[in-house]
Amino acid sequence: MRPSLAAIAAELQGYDPQALRVDEVNAFLSRLAEPVTGHEHIDLFQSLGRILAQDLVSPISVPAHDNSAMDGYAFRGATLLPDRALELKVVGTALAGVAWRGELGPGECLKIMTGAVMPSGLDTVAPQELVTLKDEHIIIPAGVLRLGDNRRFKGEDLAEGQAALLKGERISPAALGLVASLGIRQLPVFRRIKVAYFSTGDEILSLGEPPREGAVYDSNRYTVFGLLTKLGCEVIDLGVIRDEPALLEAAFAEAAERCDAIITSGGVSVGEADFTKAMMKKLGDVAFWKIAMRPGRPMAVGRIGNALLFGLPGNPVAVMVTFMAFVRPALLQLMGSTAPSLPLLKAQSLETLRKKPGRTEYQRGIVSNAADGSLTVRTTGNQGSGVLSSMVQANGLIVLHHHQGHVAPGDTVDVMMFDGAI
Ligand code: AMP
Ligand code: MG
Repeated sequence: MRPSLAAIAAELQGYDPQALRVDEVNAFLSRLAEPVTGHEHIDLFQSLGRILAQDLVSPISVPAHDNSAMDGYAFRGATLLPDRALELKVVGTALAGVAWRGELGPGECLKIMTGAVMPSGLDTVAPQELVTLKDEHIIIPAGVLRLGDNRRFKGEDLAEGQAALLKGERISPAALGLVASLGIRQLPVFRRIKVAYFSTGDEILSLGEPPREGAVYDSNRYTVFGLLTKLGCEVIDLGVIRDEPALLEAAFAEAAERCDAIITSGGVSVGEADFTKAMMKKLGDVAFWKIAMRPGRPMAVGRIGNALLFGLPGNPVAVMVTFMAFVRPALLQLMGSTAPSLPLLKAQSLETLRKKPGRTEYQRGIVSNAADGSLTVRTTGNQGSGVLSSMVQANGLIVLHHHQGHVAPGDTVDVMMFDGAI
């Protein structure tokens, strides 16, 4: 049995839905979001961004043999002397991909290419730029090399039987390359989660509708679509739903039936006269929160059927901020990801930032490098929660924590960078 909201709330100390801190919201959501279990095997080229469903154990050692890290000359390192140059006769060539078979006598070496297998008994490579050539001989100057230099060991990258990737890891471009280097063509990944979203509110126009006084075009569905798609979710767009119980009920029922999660925007603020909240309450196990944060104070959270519900506020910036702060980590957990939360960076504020202790504030910031290479941040100016243009200019959010007060120019602040996240 999945825990009810009341059961989760009972486990959390001091839970007050009317005054939740940002960290309490995430603690709650981490208990609510249960990772999917279904998985499938897919081709490597299809797996970018997917979440690995089992540890991937390396069937081979990488590299498979000791090999040369340089173009140069392979020899026995024990013959090096600290204060005397070493002269060796070149008796053959080991090319990458072609094993050299033969025996070296005393005073002999082998020309070797980068990546070529080190013939047994040889352990050191003199890079070609370090040696002087004389007829069929090379001279290695004294003191420039030590035994073992420029040799790569078998299994140095990965040993046979060792976990190359762990369950819960997201397949990155580097992971694709690593898997390919093991000769593996298919990966077990968790199934993609399906997320339905719709916008609510009678003042919200769909694209294509003629403008009308007091109405605004729906932007939230587009930002939510972008955020979900970047995260690797399958999306189902249910449009703008007018403020009518029958329409809302049908939309929630369809979303709950088809999806792992539902994201709505609008209609959850205090004093909201519409039917959205009433319908959420009627159909699911839903809590209505007031979060000590800005922007994005009101939010509805819970379950309708088997689907997680995130009822986000209507303001376009609040939608993006609450998505990044809460929905993204919760959906990643649902997807089976074990990725840690986005690291916060430290940057020096170039401005005074007014901030009230007792809530977390997210300000749109432009982070850049100062002349000395350190990070600085300025805001995009207008922080109104409807101002999407400033979200476009920003490359991150300045995170002003719960207990923090005003920030003076030169103070260090935390920033959450967008790149990679949205
Ligand atoms: P609400 O949370 O419903 O009170 O909405 C807060 C503000 O966000 C209002 O100014 C709405 O017009 C605006 N808003 C709500 N939904 C959307 C949407 N889908 N696209 C653009 N603006 C919206
Ligand atoms: Mg509204």
